[in-house]
Amino acid sequence: MRKPNIVILGAGYGGMMTTVKLQKSLGINEATITLVNKNNYHYQTTWLHENAAGTLHHDRTRIPIKEVVNTNKINFVRDTVVKVKTDEKKVKLQHGELTYDILVVALGFEAATFGIPGLIENAFTIGNINNARVIREHIEYNFAMYHNEQEKNQARLNIVVGGGGFTGVEFIGELANRIPELCKEYDIDKNLVRIINVESSPTVLPGFDPQLVEYAMNSLESRGVEFVTGAMLKECKPESIVYEKDGKQVEVPTLTTVWAAGVRANTVVEKSGFVTNRGKVEVQKDMRAPGYNDVFVLGDCALITNPESGHPYPPTAQIAIQESQTVAQNVKKLVQGTQELKHFEPKILGTVASLGHNDAIGVILNERKLFGFKATVMKKMIDNRYLLKLGGLSLLMRKGKFNIFY
Ligand SMILES: Cc1cc2nc3c(=O)[nH]c(=O)nc-3n(C[C@H](O)[C@H](O)[C@H](O)COP(=O)(O)OP(=O)(O)OC[C@H]3O[C@@H](n4cnc5c(N)ncnc54)[C@H](O)[C@@H]3O)c2cc1C
Repeated sequence: MRKPNIVILGAGYGGMMTTVKLQKSLGINEATITLVNKNNYHYQTTWLHENAAGTLHHDRTRIPIKEVVNTNKINFVRDTVVKVKTDEKKVKLQHGELTYDILVVALGFEAATFGIPGLIENAFTIGNINNARVIREHIEYNFAMYHNEQEKNQARLNIVVGGGGFTGVEFIGELANRIPELCKEYDIDKNLVRIINVESSPTVLPGFDPQLVEYAMNSLESRGVEFVTGAMLKECKPESIVYEKDGKQVEVPTLTTVWAAGVRANTVVEKSGFVTNRGKVEVQKDMRAPGYNDVFVLGDCALITNPESGHPYPPTAQIAIQESQTVAQNVKKLVQGTQELKHFEPKILGTVASLGHNDAIGVILNERKLFGFKATVMKKMIDNRYLLKLGGLSLLMRKGKFNIFY
C-alpha cells in the first residue's frame, strides 16, 4: 500500500512542534513527511521584539531547521506557499507543487493595518527576522545620522510604537533598555530621545489585570516612555504620524513608526478558499478545517472560541504549541486508520509580558500575579522550556536564556 504524504506548511511554533512530534511517533515506512518553510531556519517569534530593539542578536532567535529536524526522516522544502488547492489535494509553491494526503497548515500571522493611510508604506512591523533586523538597523542609522546634519532633525530621535498590546509593550520595554546604550554610543543626550506609545484603548495591555498594567506603565514611564492612550492613529506619513485624541489631531515628527497593533492570519488561508472568520479558520474540535477530513489548521491561522468568555483565544505561541500535540496525535491516528480523533482542550497556564530583560509582569496558574524579578525568571523559564521541548538539552544550552541576574 502507498505511504500517505503528510505535508506541513510553516516551520513556526505550530509547524515545528507538529513535525518534531511526528518525526518521533511515525516510522519512515508509515508515511512520507514534508515540511515547507520560507526560510531554512525556524525563528522564535516571541523573541523578535528583542531583535528589533537590538537587545538580542537575531542569530540567538533563529534555529537552523536541520539542527532540529532529522532530514533522513523528514523532507524539508525551502519555498514559499502560494495557495492550497484543496480540490486537487495540492499545494502550489513559488517554485513547484506538492501533493498531499494529509495537510497541516501552520503559516502564522501577518500584520493587520486596518486601512490606516500610509501604514503599509511608511511603518515597520515586527513579523519576522528580516523585519526585526531592519528596525534595529534603521534606529541605529538615525542615531548615527543625527550628528551629521547641520540642522538637527528631532524626527530621527522620536520613535512611535502603534499599539499598546502585548507585542507593543514588550518592544517598548526592550527599547527603554536599549536607548541609553545607543545614546552613549552615538553621543546623544538621552533626554532628547522620545519613545511614544499610541494606544486606542483607555489603557495599555487591555484585558490584563489593572494592578499589573499600572506596574508596567510605571516601570516604563520611569525609563522615559510616553503613553498616549485613548488615541487613534490616523495617518502614518514618511516623516510624521497623526493621531486623534479627544477630538483633536496631533502630529508627531518621526522617521520611525513601528506598528504593533494588530495581526491577522496568513492571507494564504483566505486565498485557498477555506471558510474563514476574521481571516482565520474556525477549526473543529479535532483541529480539522470544517468540510475537510484531511486538512488540519493550527496556531495563528486557527480560531477557537473560549466557551467561558465567548471570545476567541488570543493568538499565542502557548496555544500553537498545545495545538501541535493534538494535531500530531490526530495525524498519526489518520495514518493508522483510526477515524476517532482527539479533541483539543486548551490549558492556559498564564501569560507573562516582559518589560525589558530585567522586568516583567504576569499572571500564572490560579490568577497568581507576578511582578519584577519573579516574573522575569518565569518569562525566561517559559522560553527555555520551549527550547527543551523542541530540541532537547543541547538546543537549550545553545540558545537558552540564562541571564537571570542582569
Ligand atoms: C514580538 C512578539 C512577541 C510575542 N510574544 C509572545 C509571548 O510572549 N507568548 C506567546 O504565547 N505568544 C507571543 N506572541 C505570539 C506568537 O508569537 C504567535 O502566536 C505564534 O508565533 C504563532 O505560531 P504559529 O506557528 O501559528 O506561527 P509562526 O510562529 O509565526 O510561524 C509561521 C511560520 O510560517 C512561515 N511562513 C509564513 N508564510 C509562509 C509562506 N507563504 N510560505 C512558507 N512559509 C511561510 C514563517 O516563516 C514561519 O516560520 C508574540 C508575537 C510577537 C510578534
